[in-house]
Amino acid sequence: SNRSLSTWARRCQLIGRRMASTSTSTDADVIVIGGGHAGCEAAAASARCGSRTMLLTHKWATIGEMSCNPSFGGIGKGHLVREVDALDGVCARICDKAAITYQALNRSHGAAVLGLRAQIDRQLYKQHMQNEIGSTPNLQVVEGEVDEILVESQLEGPRVKGVRLADGKVIRSKCIVITTGTFLGAEIFLGPERIKSGRMGDKSSTELSRSFSKLGFALGRLRTGTPPRIYKDSIDFSQFQAMAPDKEPIPFSFMTEQIWLPPEQQLPTYVGYTNQEVRKRAEAHLHENEHVREETKGPRYCPSFEAKIIRFPQLDHRLFLEHEGLDSPLIYPQGMSMSFKPEVQLEVMRAIPGLEKIEFSQPGYGVQYDFVDPRQLKKSLETRKIEGLFLAGQINGTTGYEEAAAQGVLAGVNAAARANQTGALLLSRTNSYLGVLVDDLTSLGTNEPYRMFTSRAECRLHLRPDNADLRLTQLGRKHGAVGDVRWKKFTEEAQDLDKLRELLKGISMPRNKWTNILKREFKSNGKYVSAYEMLHRHSLTFEELKGFCQEETKPLLGKKKLEERLRIEASYSLNHERHMQKVAEIEREASVELAEDINYRQMEGLSEECAEKLCEVRPLNLAAASRVPGITPEALVVILRHIRRAA
Ligand code: FAD
Repeated sequence: SNRSLSTWARRCQLIGRRMASTSTSTDADVIVIGGGHAGCEAAAASARCGSRTMLLTHKWATIGEMSCNPSFGGIGKGHLVREVDALDGVCARICDKAAITYQALNRSHGAAVLGLRAQIDRQLYKQHMQNEIGSTPNLQVVEGEVDEILVESQLEGPRVKGVRLADGKVIRSKCIVITTGTFLGAEIFLGPERIKSGRMGDKSSTELSRSFSKLGFALGRLRTGTPPRIYKDSIDFSQFQAMAPDKEPIPFSFMTEQIWLPPEQQLPTYVGYTNQEVRKRAEAHLHENEHVREETKGPRYCPSFEAKIIRFPQLDHRLFLEHEGLDSPLIYPQGMSMSFKPEVQLEVMRAIPGLEKIEFSQPGYGVQYDFVDPRQLKKSLETRKIEGLFLAGQINGTTGYEEAAAQGVLAGVNAAARANQTGALLLSRTNSYLGVLVDDLTSLGTNEPYRMFTSRAECRLHLRPDNADLRLTQLGRKHGAVGDVRWKKFTEEAQDLDKLRELLKGISMPRNKWTNILKREFKSNGKYVSAYEMLHRHSLTFEELKGFCQEETKPLLGKKKLEERLRIEASYSLNHERHMQKVAEIEREASVELAEDINYRQMEGLSEECAEKLCEVRPLNLAAASRVPGITPEALVVILRHIRRAA
């Protein structure tokens, strides 16, 4: 309940004060700074791995805050949420306790690119997250503001020893994970006004940003924004097209057997369009808007309304009206992020049909912030420069809750591993989207907010949401990140899948025989076909199989979820050989390292344009070079030849 949560929160603060004042050796194995999406996952993961963990954040009340959209998932992002879940992370389970509308994307495009997505009740999510964090063994929460990272020198190089808070207190630890999101050196923009703040109502972390610079880290600057929030009862929904929730919702978590809110009680979302009058009203005020005039790069795939009318003035732009919660009086107009003066925002939005009489609960705003160039990180998310210092989330140049949460789990597991002196959990482009994300960031860096897409993964037919547990849970268990409850469920299900797969592959007969048994017409060419193949090619059902299976296997054939999983798996199995070739190719290219000071301009045969791009990005290996936009296969051959000659 809320009361027990607040009692718990007070107890955490007390523990924090006592620890901060009496600290001697270390107060924690791992300190996680920031209670956003990366921080919650990092803290929970480190604690699951058995490390004494402290979550040190501005305010208990903002733990689990969704700073912008009240939704989780999307194309590529849904895959990341499933991978977090496969590593026993928390966000997928919590989404399933707080989702109010499940609307998966790309349903007709195949399981590999299915975008799990749901609208989430903002308050419920936060409440469940605080509950989860509050009840995790080995995890303490301390309220405070970190101003400085403390480092000590040792023979092998510098390593972290703790942090200094704004009130001067020192907290010591073996490892630190920094997940401060958009807060480093942050400024909010509202029309001509600039306010030092990391998020509306929250302080900016100016000193911490300075501490990074003092330690010699290269920082960059990015921007993002959020739309105004509208009172639901001021909207005329009849002017919008309603989109019903999915009839068969797909939960985020492998652990969820049943979602909490049945489809008939879920809420619709609404779609509408801007028009030329909306554009005109906005254009008249563009010159007053500082945020859009700045050079700083914003999110390409989630641009502000200002950016959209500058780039595509002739178009009417789509917007979605999404509920902020089951009982919330507020609506989130997705697609209308803007940072005009509040009265201008109202004037612009009121030109949209159905929104003529709207009132805001808060205006939209923009935010600009420092991020740390992620090429300074290892694949474990530990900084190359300082041992024991890990970074995760938006601080690494990404955007989105899912990207943040995924990095959080990895950094949490690896900080615990570093503290316990065990091996790091390293993921690759060929086993996970999280591996793709980390590889892109650490080998290519980014100069705009990085968002995950399925198109970023070369092995996307293999990296599917349905098999995230088969790809990652065992690996996570090896590193201590997967608890007993999930491990038991996973192993039972994996064993059942193995048994069923074997059974299905063992039943094989010519097509005409299948025709007789299944009473359906199949073209016959005398070839033998297994039940496994029939599953996806001809929609064979487990019910139909029951007739010719032994009694002891029949209970397995009653499991709908397993049937669906095997059907998907079978439909992608033909691709397995091509996948293995791709894996070998990626690994080969990734093993060719490129020195940071390599002179591309002097490489014979490399075009000036390619040399310029490579000098700008400085990829760390050949595989990363191949992903720099504009780098041709011929350019890669030139680089390879150059390296071989130099060796
Ligand atoms: P956050 O969720 O920002 O959490 C940071 C945490 O660190 C907070 O709890 C904060 O209190 C704490 N903290 C910061 N500094 C300190 C310190 N010195 N000491 C102690 N604690 C500290 N994403 C999208 O995908 N699409 C969007 O359209 C979008 N719009 C956004 C608009 C705005 C205005 C903002 C602020 C964010 C937006 N985002 C958007 C980004 C999204 O909110 C983030 O991607 C996500 O929340 C990042 O998670 P995180 O854990 O890295 O950081």
